[in-house]
This record gives sequence, C-alpha cells and structure tokens, in this order.
Amino acid sequence: MSLAHPPGGALVDRYGRVARDLRVSLTDKCNLRCTYCMPAEGLPWLAGPELLTDDEIVRLIRVAVQRLGVTEVRFTGGEPLIRPGLVRIVTEVAALDPRPTISLTTNGIGLDRHAPALRAAGLDRVNVSLDTLDPARFTELTRRPRLDAVLAGLAGAASAGLAPVKVNSVLMRGINDDEAPALLRFALAHGYELRFIEQMPLDAQHGWDRTAMVTADEILASLRREFDLRADPAERGSAPAETWLVDGGPARVGVIASVTRPFCGDCDRTRLTADGQVRACLFATEESDLRGALRAGMDDDELADRWRAAMWGKRAGHGIDDPSFLQPARPMSAIGG
Ligand code: SAM
Repeated sequence: MSLAHPPGGALVDRYGRVARDLRVSLTDKCNLRCTYCMPAEGLPWLAGPELLTDDEIVRLIRVAVQRLGVTEVRFTGGEPLIRPGLVRIVTEVAALDPRPTISLTTNGIGLDRHAPALRAAGLDRVNVSLDTLDPARFTELTRRPRLDAVLAGLAGAASAGLAPVKVNSVLMRGINDDEAPALLRFALAHGYELRFIEQMPLDAQHGWDRTAMVTADEILASLRREFDLRADPAERGSAPAETWLVDGGPARVGVIASVTRPFCGDCDRTRLTADGQVRACLFATEESDLRGALRAGMDDDELADRWRAAMWGKRAGHGIDDPSFLQPARPMSAIGG
C-alpha cells in the first residue's frame, strides 16, 4: 500500500473508494435543540472570523467540482437555512461547469418562505428532518414548539418543485420508537420519501448508548406490522439508505443503518465544516485545514492537493464496533450531518 496519494485526479483513498459527494456545513448554529444532538443551552459557537465566508465556500466547492471530480454538493449544518448567504451560494454553485447536483438537509423551519428562491437559484432536492408528528413530543424532543413550521416547510418544498422531498427520522427508545408506521403513513399521504436513520454516537453530550439505540431490524419489524415491505430491486450504489418498496411500490421507505449495517466500503463522501476543515468521515478524529491554507494564499491546485491528501488517509470504516472507538471531538451539528 502506497503511503503517498497519487498526484492529480479525483479524491481517492487507499481502499480504492472515490469521493464524489461533498457535504458542506454552512453553520454550526441551529434554531432547534434536539435532545439527542445538543444541550438546551446550545454549544460554544464558532466565532465569525472562524467561519468560511460565502466566497471562500464557493471557491472550495469550485475546487472540489472542477479539480477533484465532485458531482454532488449537499448543504447542511447546524441549520443551513439560517445562513444569510445561502441563496447566493446556491446560485454560484449552480453556475459551475460542470454543474453539480445541489441538495439541502434542513429542519424545514422557514423552508416554505425560502423554497421558491432556492429552487430558482438551482437547488435540486431537500431532506427535511422530522422525528415525530405529535406536537407535544416535537416540543419535548426539539425544545422548541415548531412542528407546524416544519410541516409548512415540507409542503412549501413540494410546491416549489423540490422533488423528491425526503424526510429523515431518528427513532429513540421510549421517546418516539412507536411512531415508525405513523411517520410512513404521513410520508405516503404527502408523497414524501421517508428514511429512518439509526442514532449514531455523535451527540454533543456523549450520551449515546448502543443498547438503547433503535436498530434497523426493529424499525423494519415495526413497519411490517402495518405495511408489506419488499427489498427495492433498484441498484443501491453508494447511497447510505437501504430501501424497501412499500405495499408493492412505487412508494419506498429507507433505513440508514450506519451502526448495525455499516456501508463504509461504498462510502463516497467528503466533508467540509463551516470553519473550512476537510473530514474524510463523520467519525474521523483528524481534520485537514483548508481555511488556513486558503487564507495563507494557496492557489487552487495546492488546495486540491491538500484535499486529496486528506482523503487518502480515510480509514476503512467508522470503527464504532472497535473496542478502541473514540467518539469524534466535534458533535454532528458542528461537523455537518
Ligand atoms: N439542521 C439540519 C437538519 O435538521 O436536518 C441539518 C443538520 S442535522 C445535524 C442533520 C441530521 O442529523 C438530522 O436529520 C438529525 O436528526 C440527524 N442527527 C443528529 N444527531 C444525530 C445522531 N446522533 N445520530 C443520527 N442522526 C443524527
């Protein structure tokens, strides 16, 4: 195995994986305080000068798309809709040649207002996070009474033509683990595509407990009490979700079983944090500083090379099952989920 990454070309790693899907965190701040993500008081946020500017973000995405073969860009956070420059960033990324696919992961608050402008700017798709349909539970889980705003955001995304609208749900034992069928009924009724995400050890409080986690098998068993699920014959590729046809299809439901059925061997992701650090994996403990490099005057070729070097070191797997596993210092909200 070579110790140095090959010169030029795409973002390859030592295991032959090629990263073409870039997740860009636009902020570490969020307007919700989901109990499994952040403490009630929030976190020590990144200071203004630490954040990449809009121009720096667009420049790094241009490097990724034009020099490193990235074909998909997903904006996330924190909550990306609270970044003032979002529409401008999307407009500039959509003008790149070649044009990447552009998507957004959001909690949906304000999406009804922003969706038409985002669609016009070039946004292709959205994933909206929604863990419960019960207003009291939503308020307890997110510490904010905003279920109506999220539902309005979902409807606004659909009417703006951001198709397919995907819904991401995390189930937690004793909190909302009885809601899988109701969430699927809701998604089917509105034409949204639902995906459940296994809870991962990425919370700021380090309170994740494997034995308490709701597994993919449990989620599927719960859905099967109400729905007929057949494995989706469509090629999965590097998609994190395993999908099932619901009641014969064409509607589908997905499960992202990062913990119990890891898919690291097919991972094609590279991540850029809001403060300009490249991460090869959600669970990486190392980062490579592109912000410092960029501000020190590196040109695009040099930045591309630094990014390649960071990805070359990507580990074979996230290692949650290794006895030596260490949760990354940064929580999900600061990495970009
Ligand atoms: N604020 C945006 C949102 O709500 O979608 C983007 C960031 S949020 C961190 C992205 C996704 O990560 C959400 O669907 C959230 O439920 C999920 N998430 C947060 N912490 C998680 C954890 N420990 N395990 C699995 N998913 C988690």
